[in-house]
Order: sequence, then structure tokens, then C-alpha cells
Amino acid sequence: MKYLSTRAAASETAERKRFCEILLEGLAPDGGLYLPEHYPQVNETQLATWRSVYREQGYAALAFEVLSLYIDDIPAADLKAICDKTYTQAVFGTPEIVPLRHLENGLWIEALSNGPTLAFKDMAMQLLGNLFEYELGRRGEELNILGATSGDTGSAAEYAMRGKKGVRVFMTSPFGRMSPFQQAQMFSLMDENIHNIAVEGVFDDCQDMVKAVSNDLDFKRKYKIGTVNSINWARLMAQVVYYFAGYFQASTSNSEKVSFTVPSGNFGNVCAGHVARMMGLPIDKLVVATNENDVLDEFFRTGVYRVRGSADTHETSSPSMDISKASNFERFVFDLLGRDGTRTKALFGDALSREGRFDLGSDPAFAQASQRYGFVSGKSTHANRLATIKDTFERLGSMIDTHTADAVKVAREHLQAGVPMVVLETALPIKFAATIVEALGCEPDRPAKFEGIEALPKRVTRMAADAQAVKTYIAQHCA
Ligand SMILES: *Cc1c(COP(=O)(O)O)cnc(C)c1O
Repeated sequence: MKYLSTRAAASETAERKRFCEILLEGLAPDGGLYLPEHYPQVNETQLATWRSVYREQGYAALAFEVLSLYIDDIPAADLKAICDKTYTQAVFGTPEIVPLRHLENGLWIEALSNGPTLAFKDMAMQLLGNLFEYELGRRGEELNILGATSGDTGSAAEYAMRGKKGVRVFMTSPFGRMSPFQQAQMFSLMDENIHNIAVEGVFDDCQDMVKAVSNDLDFKRKYKIGTVNSINWARLMAQVVYYFAGYFQASTSNSEKVSFTVPSGNFGNVCAGHVARMMGLPIDKLVVATNENDVLDEFFRTGVYRVRGSADTHETSSPSMDISKASNFERFVFDLLGRDGTRTKALFGDALSREGRFDLGSDPAFAQASQRYGFVSGKSTHANRLATIKDTFERLGSMIDTHTADAVKVAREHLQAGVPMVVLETALPIKFAATIVEALGCEPDRPAKFEGIEALPKRVTRMAADAQAVKTYIAQHCA
């Protein structure tokens, strides 16, 4: 399997890379995102085998089957060992890893957030940690991951990389702006290779610092600076697996169709659903649920993709979906346009940087987004979120977090008789306790292992919003 950039001209076959070459990279050199040059097709026999693999051997074995189709430069026995040590009941809490529960009338919830940080990002990040350690060890190299977080991504990265050989994490976050629970999750890590940096500023200041450091190419090379952001193909690939696991749990035979609703921000999660569907998994609809930041809902309704300015980007009670643009969306548009890299480049490289928008509304390809690729969408507001959390708890006896609530609200608008609808649960309520209290008047349940974490000692360095300060800090801690 080789990988190409979404901005590559069809003739540029020489530029194609193998999995381990793109594993530690972010963007392709031309600014595009990596995708496999084709989607492996899973036929009926194979799907039937995989159904029993998941039932009889478990999630790790299923992950090995799926990943093997995309990774051909890690020996099978090694890849199997990596999957086995990643997806365990000890780390993810249940033997199913991603158990399904029924809400009502064909509406299901797939739990993706029982990992170490209680958000679905663990599903991919835990695998990434093990893949990084393996590949860096094989090359005899080191990597210093520099990131900015307002919560979920940073903690998932830290819990995935803690104690890993060859990897250090330098994670910036806005001082005093994360929830006490999120701060406690990150700052209580005592591992030598994890560095929390609380920046005196807002999230954008953290991102600007990371960008400034990454743009200093000499520094970047000297200190082997890398990232783990959501555009990494390995993260997306890891997420494909739970669409198969969700499908097998929601259906009894492979002749049935199942739909998925996905709380969406950067379009990474639902893009994995698109990949699963392209592989031949019988997915009917892929429902994109957004919050007030409705960049994606606007596109699927009108064909207009419009990046929001910061004044137009709302701080909401489902904060992990507060995006001004959807960084993985380019992957889907590349497929939608018949994998025309030249056109994708014109839209994402040129039109977006010039005008901040493009419009495919009158392009014949746009109708294919729903007709051929199964995409539909909807949005949810703070009031919808509160009402959905309350109704789901009081009437259906299930407590859901704010992001999942957005998806449940939108899923109901797209229910079809006879087609199970699986909502992906992307976080547990405890992470967003203030909004749960607002909706229910009571505190959310707290898993036993997080009892009292706010009181644990904290390991964090406070710093001015200054790129030079973070460079100095990295240089001091890379000896
Ligand atoms: C990251 C995140 C999302 C958004 O996922 P994307 O892959 O960016 O679309 C939704 N919910 C939660 C809780 C998250 O952490």
C-alpha cells in the first residue's frame, strides 16, 4: 500500500510513500493530506470472517485485520503484538472495548470513551503511542512532540506517550482555562517524558507558539520536533476499526445496513466512517452532527465551505467541536471530486487562502455527497444539548456528555425505519461536569480511578506566551 497527497497531480506517482514514512509526518510537503492510493475492498466472505473474529477473538484481532490492509512495512507478528498490547480490557474497561447500548427505537450508543482520558481520542492515540515507540526504536531515532491543547487532544496524547522510549511530549495549554478535571488529568502525570506548559494566554496563543517553533526549520530539525494532530493518517486509520465493531454489534447479518451519527469538529472521526464505507462496510448514512460552529453542516446543506474568523467561532458547551475550519475535510473533498488533486489544491490551497471559502453548490459532484457517499448533517445548540441530556437521562436512564448529546439530537432527525442508528459517544459526562449540572441539577458519575484527582500533586511549568521561551525550555529538556 502506498500513500498519496490530496494535492498531488495524478501523474506524480513517484512521490508516493509507504506507511512508516508518513507515520511520523504531518502534512505532505505540498500542503495536502495523505490518503491511501486506493481503499482496500472487503468482500462478503471477509466481512463474515471479521464478524466472527471480533466476536471470538476480540477487538485487537479485528484491529489487526483492518490495519494489515493499510500497513505492509511492519512485519505481521509485530503489528499483531502492537494491536494486542493497545486494545486491552485493562486500558479500555470492557472486553468489547467499544460496547454498544440501546437507547430506544433503533437508536444505539457506541461507547468510544472508556479509555484512559475518557474521550474517544484515546482509541487512536493509544495505538499511535505504540506505533511511534516501535518505529522510533527501529530507526534509533527520537521525537519531541510539541502541541497545543484546550483539553482532549493534549491529555490523550500525554496518556498515549507517557513512559514511551524515544518520545517526549511538550504540551502547551492556556493557563487556567481548562476545566479542573482536565487540568488534573494532565498535570498529575509524573512521567519524565511528559512536559506540561501552561501559557499565560488563550488557546490561540498556544497554537501560535507551536507554529512559530515549527516554522523555525533549523530548530525543528535539530530538536526533532513533531506533532500528533488530527490530520495524521494513522489516527484516522485506527478509527476505521470501531465502525466495523459498531456495525457487527448493531446488526445480526452482513446483509443489513447501519447508519452512524458522529459529533464532528475537525472531521477526523466521521472521515474514518467514510473510509470504512468506501471499503465496503454496509453503512447507509453518515450523519455529521455539529454544534453552533456549523461549518460542516453548512457545507452538506449548501455546498459552501466557509472558514470562520475568530469573531465568528463560538465558545460552546461542547468545546471539542469548536472549530473555525475542519482540518480533515480536504480528504473527503478529494474523493468527492473523483480524486482530482489539482482541483483539490485549487480549492484548499488557493481559494481558501484567498477568499476563505469555496462553493461547490452548483457542481454536479456536490449532489454525490449524499447520494453516493451517504453524507447528511444537522446542528445542535446549547438549548438542544441541555434538553437532550435531560431527556436521555430522565426518560431513558442514560447519562451522556455534551458532544454525544449534539449527536443524539441530530441522529433523531435522520432515523429511518429498519436501519439501526449508531451514535458515537465521544466523551464521558464527567469531563464536562458544569453543563451536566446545568442540565440535570446533579453531578455526573465519576469512574473510580478518577476519584480525587484534583487533589494530586501537579507537574506543570508556567510560561509567558513567547515562542522563544518554549524553545529555551525544549532545548534545556532534550539533553
Ligand atoms: C475531538 C472531539 C470531537 C471531534 O472529533 P473530530 O474528529 O475532530 O471531528 C468530538 N467530541 C469530542 C469529545 C472530542 O474530543
